Amino acid sequence: MNVALLLSRSASITPSAPALAHGRELLLDYSGLWRRVTMLSEGLGQIAEPGDRIVVAMKNLPDYLVLIFAALHRGLIIVPVNSALQVREVEHCVADSGAVICFSDADHVGGLATLLGKVDTLRAVIDVESAGFQALYVEPTDQMPAEKQSQDPAWIFYTSGTTGKPKGATLSHGALRAMATAQLCDYGTPSDGACIVHHAPLSHASGLLAIPFTAGGALHVIPGPDDRSAEGVLGLTSHWRNAYLFSAPTFLNRLVACASASLAVASGIETIFFGGAPMYVEDLARALAVLGPRLAQIYGQGESPMTISGVPAHAYGSASGEALGRLMASAGWVRSGVEVAILDDNGERALAGKPGMVVVRGDVVMSSYWNMPEATASTLVGGWLHTGDIGVFDENGLLSLIDRAKEVIISGGLNVYPREVEEVLLSHPDVGEVSVVGLPDAEWGEIIAAAVVPRDGLTIKLKELDALCLESIARFKRPKKYFFLNELPKSAYGKILKREVVSLLLSETHNNFAG
Ligand code: AMP
Repeated sequence: MNVALLLSRSASITPSAPALAHGRELLLDYSGLWRRVTMLSEGLGQIAEPGDRIVVAMKNLPDYLVLIFAALHRGLIIVPVNSALQVREVEHCVADSGAVICFSDADHVGGLATLLGKVDTLRAVIDVESAGFQALYVEPTDQMPAEKQSQDPAWIFYTSGTTGKPKGATLSHGALRAMATAQLCDYGTPSDGACIVHHAPLSHASGLLAIPFTAGGALHVIPGPDDRSAEGVLGLTSHWRNAYLFSAPTFLNRLVACASASLAVASGIETIFFGGAPMYVEDLARALAVLGPRLAQIYGQGESPMTISGVPAHAYGSASGEALGRLMASAGWVRSGVEVAILDDNGERALAGKPGMVVVRGDVVMSSYWNMPEATASTLVGGWLHTGDIGVFDENGLLSLIDRAKEVIISGGLNVYPREVEEVLLSHPDVGEVSVVGLPDAEWGEIIAAAVVPRDGLTIKLKELDALCLESIARFKRPKKYFFLNELPKSAYGKILKREVVSLLLSETHNNFAG
């Protein structure tokens, strides 16, 4: 089944329901969105063949949403990449996927046009804000989407590349459909009159969520140029009401800071889905205190989009005391339609309480890494996707993530999970952000170092941080070096880039503290 059929179904059931808005302006209802999608699909058919890859490297604009569905409708493979990437990073995705066209916006098209002639397969770089793009909306000869089997590729999702070059997780029409049905099943169909505010990049979680929210007949709100700050997003949720959104932890913390000043501004929010990176317990507790039970967690990765485990909003709302503490420290329960297991170092299933590699299988899992048989073979082993995350199940099936396997620090032969140390340091009221990494050391192999960003430019005493660690974790886990920074290096998706933290710390004059 072509996943674009989910849109045609909503257009049949609720043709006059609002479908697409830009800022506070309503642009299209569902029948109008379907028509625009079929028109653009027709135009795309004049410049690309079914199975061709098209890269989309642009900011969130209303045409982005139309383009996603039009490409799926036409049977093209869409390759959305973050518009905040450097041209050379987009070049990797264009060349690796062998894309024939790159769609962009007026701000980015100039830089990306330099790829023409550099990447053999690339025939055109098209600015969606130009008249040339509008000319691709033509009268459709056929409303029906291209015939697709479940296993046919639909979307290539380039992993964030916090280690090595980004790899293209190839997601089939069946995987996207499985993702959409699991979302509706586990978090509920959007309420009547609901909207989803796409402030997060459509190239990532927000774009994937657009599929179940289309199936659920919700209004897609693309923030206008003045709506992109936390205040702007809250302004939109107040305007449209019953608003859902996806937010990475960094932006969620900004929304919380903004909403804590005036609680009324959060009243238009139905649910904020958070995920994509660890949300520290301290931050989540503050978010729940300010926003109430309006938060739901999603743990997924490009290779198993939006769907490994999660916590629905009502579960945070109904838990209290120790149970709430355990829930906040976890990544929730296994999602519908997937099986999740923990494998020990011998590749055997680990029992509850024993940490190991999180592995996943189910229809939502990627088919392969595009053109990378070796990486595919080492990641999809025996039918299981090896996520690279270390996790542990408790007796009740609650999954907790300990860390990325590649980020474990080995100091004096002992394993230290940075996230455990980060949680402790973040419990200091003056610590805003923190990243714990291993630095090479002749004696210990690696020593533990903490890069700390104090809240609001405050000064923090090293002794206080060390005392906190001594109270809470084994002595060998406490940082031997602290570095105070104004900010941490982050990817275009707001993820802390540990490799860059290490290079930065190695080049810094530091505050050495051995306690
Ligand atoms: P990406 O493929 O870029 O979406 O990155 C996926 C990775 O982000 C996962 O493998 C996890 O390491 C991390 N991640 C995603 N969601 C969560 C979550 N809810 N809690 C903790 N880490 C997460």
